[in-house]
Amino acid sequence: MNEQDKFVVRFWGVRGSYPTPGPTTVRYGGNTPCVEVEAGGYVLILDAGTGIINLGRDLLRRSRERGKPVEAVLLFSHLHHDHTQGFPFFAPAFVPTTRLHLFGPDFLNSSPKVTLDTVMTPPYFPVRLAELNAWLSFATLREPDVLMIGESVGGVALGSANDPALQSDPDLIRVRVLRSYAHPNGVLHYRIDWRGKSVVYATDTEGYVNGDRRLANFASGADLLIHDAQYTDEHYLGLAPGLPTTQGYGHSTTSIAIQAAQVSHTRKLALFHHAPEYDDAQLDRIAEQVDRIHPGTLIAREGMVIRLDDAAQTSSTEEPAALHTKAQTNANA
Ligand SMILES: [Zn+2]
Repeated sequence: MNEQDKFVVRFWGVRGSYPTPGPTTVRYGGNTPCVEVEAGGYVLILDAGTGIINLGRDLLRRSRERGKPVEAVLLFSHLHHDHTQGFPFFAPAFVPTTRLHLFGPDFLNSSPKVTLDTVMTPPYFPVRLAELNAWLSFATLREPDVLMIGESVGGVALGSANDPALQSDPDLIRVRVLRSYAHPNGVLHYRIDWRGKSVVYATDTEGYVNGDRRLANFASGADLLIHDAQYTDEHYLGLAPGLPTTQGYGHSTTSIAIQAAQVSHTRKLALFHHAPEYDDAQLDRIAEQVDRIHPGTLIAREGMVIRLDDAAQTSSTEEPAALHTKAQTNANA
């Protein structure tokens, strides 16, 4: 398939809170959140957990193969550590030809620029944000904003829902934003629409009785919903041996995520942001349980690829080249 016709979602980091390397997490992966969406030849990156480090290497490989510099739109859901900690090690940011468009919230007056500037400062990190070689642009996003991506707007442009560009060019990638209050300090959820297909990224959210109605409207009819499902119901309620209740932590259970998929009538659900305490065996058990309740539910794992384009019928998963590791070999066994 032509690169310009692809609409593909790739998971580079699926673990919540902190990285969990080791022999018991090789199949689902231990990197913190990072999801790549490739649409119409553009690369969008959702969050910069440690998963973005492997993605960076793969983007540089693609850049060499295609003879084109790296250009990407990086969307932060929020600025907690597990969603930013990979950025200082994102190799394309050190390459002068790279162009990065960074967007995120400015909750508590701390935008992505302010946050990255703070963590990329000695003694925390030797290289300052201002010393990166890449071309970087920063902007904050609020709920009515619509990000438009495509040739007719000159690449990346910020607009609103009734922007004339959206009417005149139906081929634009459109990114909409929902500001959620269901996580400490707030979080942005993203909806990416292109050529009649859509993916919603709703991580770090706890949910409400009978479902999050604002999220249900926002995600209505989406092809893929990537939703926080950090905890089992037992863990959340404090009924799992040795684990305290996690109510109020700002994360969902598998049941809350399934309810979100059902009330929003999304076609496919991928459970995301797995608890760092859960090993591969436990995630296998969760996969069996959720498949009985909501058949076809996916447990996100590193290396998983979901196609939303016309090739979806023939290929549901493939492995990004940079993830051809022992872990992924095992995952495919
Ligand atoms: Zn998180």
